Parts: sequence; C-alpha cells; structure tokens
Amino acid sequence: MPSKNQRNKANKSKDLLQIIILVTVLVGFIGVIAFAYLSKDSESVKQAETQISYEGQPMIGDANAPVKVMEFGDYKCPSCKEFHDSIYPQLKKDYIDTGKVQFYFTNYQFLGEDSITAGIGGESVFKQNPSAFWKYYDVVYANQQDKHTEWATPEFLTDLIKKNIPEVDAEQVKKDMENKTYLKDVEADNEMAVTNNIQRVPSIVINGKVLENGLDYENIKKVIEEELNQK
Ligand code: CA
Repeated sequence: MPSKNQRNKANKSKDLLQIIILVTVLVGFIGVIAFAYLSKDSESVKQAETQISYEGQPMIGDANAPVKVMEFGDYKCPSCKEFHDSIYPQLKKDYIDTGKVQFYFTNYQFLGEDSITAGIGGESVFKQNPSAFWKYYDVVYANQQDKHTEWATPEFLTDLIKKNIPEVDAEQVKKDMENKTYLKDVEADNEMAVTNNIQRVPSIVINGKVLENGLDYENIKKVIEEELNQK
C-alpha cells in the first residue's frame, strides 16, 4: 500500500496536472476569441478585387478631395434607403461638405426588372445634368415602395422627376427608360460590382477598400480617418 506521504505527493501532481490543463484550455480559449475577433475585423474590410472605375459615375463633393468613397446600391433595396436616409447625411456633413471625401454612386440593381428601370432613369438624368443626379438619388429613395412590388416604373419615376427635378427633361428620361437607352451603363455598373465580389447592398468602397456593411457609420468613419491620416 502507498504511504500517506506517497498519496499526498500523487495528489499534488494530480492537482498540478489539472492546473496545467486548465491554464492550457484557458489560453487556447482566449486565443480562439482573439482570432475570431481579428478575423471578424479583417472580414468587414477587404481590398477590392479589381480596379474601381470612377470615370463616368455620378460624383458629389470636391474633385480634389483626398478620399474616394463609392456606394454600390439598388434603388429598391430597403437597406440602401436606410443608408440614404441616415448614414449619407452624416457622411455628407462630416466629410463631403468639408472637402475630405468625393462620393460616388454606382448601380448594383438586381431586385427585379424595375430595379434596372430605376438605374436607367438615374443614368439618363446624369447624362442630361450631372448635378441633378443627386436630386434623383434623393427623391427615389425618399419615395421607395415595397421591394416585393414592381413600383419603379417609367410612369412613377417620370412623375417624381416632373415634380422634383424641373431642370431635367422628364419626357426624355421616360423615353430613355422605355427604350432602355442606358441599359449597357447599368449592366457595366452591375458587372463592376460582380467582378469586385460585392455581395451586398449597400456596399461602401473607401479608396478601394470594401465595407460590406454600409450601415455601420462608425466603421465607415474609422476607415475614412485611416485613409486621411495616410495622406
Ligand atoms: Ca453608373
């Protein structure tokens, strides 16, 4: 039989072993949490897969602003309306109106045929009068309807233009929507979203870095500030 001393010694080694196991498990656990946290962080910002093309896209802000921000959006998407209503005004006040950011809108219209129609309407307004595009952007989101219904028709959108954007020839925009005059432009925009592996709208690209959650203003601000500090 083992002596009392030997039993004590054996118990002590058992305790020590348990402590070592516990510490190892704890360290491992903390490691996993840290890894998950860091991966989450690197997932929310990723480099665009190809070159983002800014040429020919509607822009608001100072053309010499150091940071280029591009929204990929769909006029029928409720989150894009939320971006327009609550994030864009903050972004405009903090960065666009202060000459730090030039802001671009690029179509990623995939929520039905009328989503494409709304995209063509935007291209048509932009071709007639580049600065009037931003009125179209505002008025379409302000009047967004249920995404499950086909509401963005040439008639509905022409009516909005007539009432809100008098500097644009609304009948010409209507013809362009009916004849799909700028379908290729909308398709080229959509294609840029696809080749950049953009999965969600609104996605926000800041100097080539893609943020898939366009509704996280704190993150948008963080990345803009990082870009500003690099200048
Ligand atoms: Ca475009």
